Amino acid sequence: MDEFQIIKTIFAPLAGEGAFGLTDDAAIIRARPGFDLVVTTDAIAEGTDFFAFDPSGSVAQKALRVNLSDLAAKGAVPHAYLLSLALPPSINADWLTAFAAGLAQDQTEFAITLLGGDTGRTEGPLAISVTAFGFVQHGGMVRRSGARAGDDVYVTGTIGDSGGGLAIYKREKHTLDEPQRDALLARYRMPQPPVRFGPALRDLASAAADVSDGLIADLGHIADASAVQLVLDADLVPRSDALRAFWGEEDAAIVRATTAGDDYQIVFTAAPNRHAEVMKAANYYRTQVTRIGRVEAGTGVELTRQGRALPVLRPGYQHF
Ligand code: ADP
Ligand code: MG
Repeated sequence: MDEFQIIKTIFAPLAGEGAFGLTDDAAIIRARPGFDLVVTTDAIAEGTDFFAFDPSGSVAQKALRVNLSDLAAKGAVPHAYLLSLALPPSINADWLTAFAAGLAQDQTEFAITLLGGDTGRTEGPLAISVTAFGFVQHGGMVRRSGARAGDDVYVTGTIGDSGGGLAIYKREKHTLDEPQRDALLARYRMPQPPVRFGPALRDLASAAADVSDGLIADLGHIADASAVQLVLDADLVPRSDALRAFWGEEDAAIVRATTAGDDYQIVFTAAPNRHAEVMKAANYYRTQVTRIGRVEAGTGVELTRQGRALPVLRPGYQHF
């Protein structure tokens, strides 16, 4: 298939309102009075964020979901996305068909459509770039900068599973049973961002960020932007049974989980008098939400366990 056949047969069926069936130079997002359009982009690459042997449908879903996680952390409702592909010669029509099926599944799940993109060749590894758009009430985007001393710190989901999955992919020794192993691998392969819970943050959170590089690293971004210190209780950081079985309960296991990256959960802060509402929203959207620490005057992030500060040498994943 050439570029235009790919667009027409594989991607045009995914196009939504304003995309003109991918037959024009550009697409339209109709402005919504009273709303802001929230924009984010993230790329994933073979060998770094997924493996050549991963099913292409789940690769597609990961490419989308790493972006939906950013929208959720900003309190936005996802609307549409753009897709840019750099395809190596090894990619064939079957791969692309299954890739599009993965996109179609998540378009239904998250009520989003494809607006356009770009398709090119590469001699390097496969790279997939998504730009996602969401809407939030005007002025309501949740910033990194609003945390205040006295606020509570929360995180959604469990932390470190994806790092555990990656370690298994990389053949780290373990004695997990098959369901535990598969659960961790699945979390690496297919992020589960709390897309529906995200918009509840708009009214509740003082600051928020998505956890992509590692819990400590991403909390560091909130600490910097808000000019506060975040103090975490290591024993409160939610870890799955599978990850506990894999890495254990030592200090090092918690440091590893909180610096591993690829979680695609949300960390946020909220005033203490909002606690009941936070837990009510969590319950309503069936999202696990855990209070893991508090905001204090100062700088940076401190991971404490029973009164001791745990040494964190590297707060998260770094590309460079
Ligand atoms: P241009 O020549 O301006 O780059 P293209 O020929 O690349 O335009 O694209 C034609 C149409 O197909 C455009 O609407 C573009 O948005 C869409 N398109 C190209 N590649 C993709 C893709 N990977 N996913 C979605 N839409 C795509
Ligand atoms: Mg193009």
